Parts: sequence; structure tokens; C-alpha cells
Amino acid sequence: MKITRFETFRVAPRWMFLKIETDEGINGWGEPVLEGRARTIETAVHELCETLVGQDPSRINDHWQTMYRSHFYRGGAVLMSAIAGIDQALWDIKGKSLGVPVYELLGGKVRERMKVYSWVGGDRPADIVGQMEQLLAAGIDTFKLNGCEEMRMLDSPRAVSAAVAKVEKVRELLGDKVDFGLDFHGRVAAPMAKSLLRALEPVRPLFVEEPVLAEQAEYYPRLAASTSIPLAAGERMYSRFEFKKVFEAGGIAIAQPDLSHAGGITECHKIAAMAEAYDVALAPHCPLGPVALAACLQVDMVAHNAQLQEQSMGIHYNKGAELLDYVRNPEDFRIQDGCIAALPRPGLGVEVDEERVRHAAKNAPDWHNPVWRHADGSVAEW
Ligand SMILES: [Mg+2]
Repeated sequence: MKITRFETFRVAPRWMFLKIETDEGINGWGEPVLEGRARTIETAVHELCETLVGQDPSRINDHWQTMYRSHFYRGGAVLMSAIAGIDQALWDIKGKSLGVPVYELLGGKVRERMKVYSWVGGDRPADIVGQMEQLLAAGIDTFKLNGCEEMRMLDSPRAVSAAVAKVEKVRELLGDKVDFGLDFHGRVAAPMAKSLLRALEPVRPLFVEEPVLAEQAEYYPRLAASTSIPLAAGERMYSRFEFKKVFEAGGIAIAQPDLSHAGGITECHKIAAMAEAYDVALAPHCPLGPVALAACLQVDMVAHNAQLQEQSMGIHYNKGAELLDYVRNPEDFRIQDGCIAALPRPGLGVEVDEERVRHAAKNAPDWHNPVWRHADGSVAEW
């Protein structure tokens, strides 16, 4: 089998799909995107894919190593997201050509279904509780909320009180019926992280995500020592080589590599195994589209330490398209008792609705995250 051509499609809400074709009529799909940098990733994907045309798609390990190592400069969000989407498409082709789901090629399932969680947006407790109650009725009991709005490096205790009051109200109204993680989103700098974590302990969040930015990962062990809340991070770490330092330093209880940012299935499967050796749980990051989610679920099925899977149904970013709009087998992604069952189809397990994708790509959005500023005019982390 040989790779004959490839094509990229930028689509709403903020995603990009990659289709890799072969001379045997088997096509693979990937989702190489970096939210807000889709055009940059598209260029990187084309540069890398051009070298794959004419080659055997089944040699995924060699293609991965060549894409990573044959260029003097490597790593980082852009190159690793491009490799990630190509890697997903190659696994899709391999699974389809052998007639089995990718998890069979990774040694087979360790579980039958994967627990998922939903994002809940909004800043007013009544809105949050309302959304949670709707999702509870649909069988989802685990959520993620933003932990706070913009926060200055040294902010007033009022900012801490406001962040805590919001979730206290949610806990008061819903009690232990729900679990929720809180995403600090890199908005909190080290001087405020400790006091915010301490103030949040009584509401017993499931975890706090990115308590400080990945660039400040040296604070993770110190922060972990100061709180009983499990700390999560990893969506802005792009390879084994970055996770290695964080695992060795300690402090992170939950690793959240993104299957569309950290080198795809090939790399994240290895990151999951490294995490397991450190007693770190796996919760792949995935506020993205259906191909990315399918790739995550393949790794979740084989990683013993996979505990939670993010998924973007109903997420506030999904303007213009929803998670399953481009999918012809939405029934396989049905959430039952808070879980998605192992995807039964060969390859990644997602049947992409190509016609719909082509149509959507004619009006490709150019999504960027908002630029926030503090009251004094300086730029704030979003
Ligand atoms: Mg996050």
C-alpha cells in the first residue's frame, strides 16, 4: 500500500481535519489542529505530508520518528500538533486495512467503556447548576469548570473569594451528586496559586487543572505539597521529553496530554505508560472534534491508568458546529451512564461525513481566543 495524496479541511467551530488517501482505496482521517493557529498547523501538515506521499502508510513508527528526528529543530506546539494529526490518520489507515479498531493493534482493551466528563461554562452559579442538572439527567455526573476569571499576579483576596463563592454555591446546591474539576487555565501565577488552592479545598474539587502554566512546572511539587487537591496538567506539554521532567519532579496526579497536540496516538500511548510508572492517572485533554476524541478513546482503552476523558459535546467553544455534526456513526459515541463504550469500528472508529466536511470547509472560520487585559491595561492570560 502507498500513500497517494492528502488534503486538509479547516472547519467550524475551530477544527481541522486531515484526509490521507492510499492506492488501495483506504483513507485515514486525522485532526491536526492547534486552536487559534489552524493556518499555521495546516502549513506544517503540508510540509510533513509531502514527504510521505509514495510511502507505505503501515510503517507508523518509522514515519513518526522520521517526522520528529529528521529535522534539526523539533518539538513544540506547532510541529507536534502537525505530527499528531498525521499519526492519527496513519493509525486509522492501519486499523481499516487490517479490519480492527486501533486498540486491538495496541494490545487489546483493558476496559469496556470510558468515563467522560463535560465542560460547563458560565460564571453565575445558577447557570452552572442548571446546565449540570440537564447533563445529570443525560447520565453525566462529572464536569469541568473554569476556576476563575483573569487574575493578576498579586490579586486581591476579593478575587479569591469570588472564585470560591461560585463553586461553593454549586456544591451547596448539588452536594455530592456531582464531581467537578476546576481549570485555572494558566490564569493564576505562582504567588496566588497556593492561596486559591487552599481556599478551594473545602469544596472538594476532583482536581485543579493547570494550577500554574506549564512553563512554571517547577512549582507543581511545591503546590502539591501544600494542598490535598489532586493537580492536573499536560495540555501544553507536547512530548515524552517534556512529561519526563514533570513526572520526575512529582506533583502532578493527573496527566492530560492532548492527542492532537502531543504527537498523536504513538506518543500519547508512551506518555500514558510513563505516567502509570509514576502512579499518575491519565485524563486526555480533548475540547476538540470527533477524530481527536476517537483517537483519545483508542488510547483510553489500552491505558490502565486512564481515568477520565474530556469531550466537547455542548462546550461553549462549539459555535457553528457540534462534536458529532461531521460524523456518520454518532450512535457509537453515545454517552451511557457517563461513559462511551469502546468504539467498535476498524481504525479510529469514526466515520467522517466527508461531504459535510467539504461543505463546511468552504466557510472556514479563523478562530482565535480573545485577548484579555487587566484593569491596568496589561495583557492577561486567557
Ligand atoms: Mg485546560
